[in-house]
Amino acid sequence: MPSITEPAAALVKGFGITLKHLFSRKFTSQYPEKPHPIAPKFRGEHKLNKDGEGRVKCVACFLCETNCPAYAIRIKSAPAPDGWQDRERYPAEFEVDLLKCIFCGYCEEACPVDAIALTNKIPEVETSREAFILNKEKLLANADLPAATSAEKYLDDILKKWKG
Ligand code: SF4
Ligand code: SF4
Repeated sequence: MPSITEPAAALVKGFGITLKHLFSRKFTSQYPEKPHPIAPKFRGEHKLNKDGEGRVKCVACFLCETNCPAYAIRIKSAPAPDGWQDRERYPAEFEVDLLKCIFCGYCEEACPVDAIALTNKIPEVETSREAFILNKEKLLANADLPAATSAEKYLDDILKKWKG
């Protein structure tokens, strides 16, 4: 005959957990009005940085696109506008497909001019595939957001902590 000790113990344990939560302090998250703090290492939407004159820093070298393991970046290069003496080309179009992106940060690491970076911004919930594509305008609109902590800096910080 099977023993009833084990199921009875599980039942008592289960009721114990229910009772504990019944009398514990309740916490209701007020998201999205009050978002939770985001970890500095969280990588969200990308941004395109601007130079001192408000121009996109990108020089359309394609290193980020080449380095992207998910083929999430599409750049259309064009000759730099008149008066842009510091470069030959610039990105006429620049897109990051958030549905393909794996948020690895390789694009940021590959960029020689600090033009692209990932931020802490959580992508919005959208209802179409097209809406998940960050075009140049959206990427430039993110320019003032702080960059997420890079993987390199994050590991550096952990090593420093370990070494004391
Ligand atoms: S974070 Fe990674 S996957 Fe996303 S665009 Fe950059 S390189 Fe590609
Ligand atoms: S964002 Fe950086 S790596 Fe990518 S094309 Fe522009 S300059 Fe090159």
